[in-house]
Amino acid sequence: MTTRILLATRNPGKLDELRRIVVKRGLSDVRVLGLSDVEEFAEAPETGATFEENAVAKAYDAAKATGLPAIADDSGLSIDALGGMPGVLSARWAGRHGDDEANLRLVLGQLQDVPDERRGGGFVSAAAFVVPDGKEIVVRGEWRGTIIREPRGSNGFGYDPIFVPEGETRTSAELDPAAKDAASHRGKALRSLLPHLQEYAEAG
Ligand code: IMP
Repeated sequence: MTTRILLATRNPGKLDELRRIVVKRGLSDVRVLGLSDVEEFAEAPETGATFEENAVAKAYDAAKATGLPAIADDSGLSIDALGGMPGVLSARWAGRHGDDEANLRLVLGQLQDVPDERRGGGFVSAAAFVVPDGKEIVVRGEWRGTIIREPRGSNGFGYDPIFVPEGETRTSAELDPAAKDAASHRGKALRSLLPHLQEYAEAG
């Protein structure tokens, strides 16, 4: 029997990523839907103080509105020299939601006088899985690296052009999507949810 699972996102890149991960794991009976595959419902703004809070709230709302088991993720960049910011404010750091170029330029300006040895940071992703009876699981994936001084590369989105992962010389915007999935914060978090998806699908 096919188990339908909703990924609470409109981002086709995130949907493709979870679908690739599910196929790789051999979960052939799991079908991953996105928000555009279900009836529209009011989506609450992200007001949580942590990635985990936002991910659980989004997954819970989606499960409640649709009756489907739902996954949601919340992610961002945590920079050591900025005390962990932009963090949960990553998407709207320059004041407008989703202005990637303005966000990245603001971060570069803030770090202008920070020496190379103190430019560490990491992408973080919290991913939550909520089933309609209310059971919830939340996991976290991290991807450490360094914030460079000039953007490089055109793959990816957000802060990818200024992030060089540990052990790499390329930015995450210079990696191909498969290499990014294998190493990234979101890939790690989504893969940690797989045993729970599998358990749910097998019980179904
Ligand atoms: P959200 O989890 O989709 O709300 O993403 C939050 C913000 O974090 C995005 O708008 C990006 O600015 C940043 N971000 C999260 N993941 C990545 C990534 O893999 N690469 C670059 N930026 C990211």
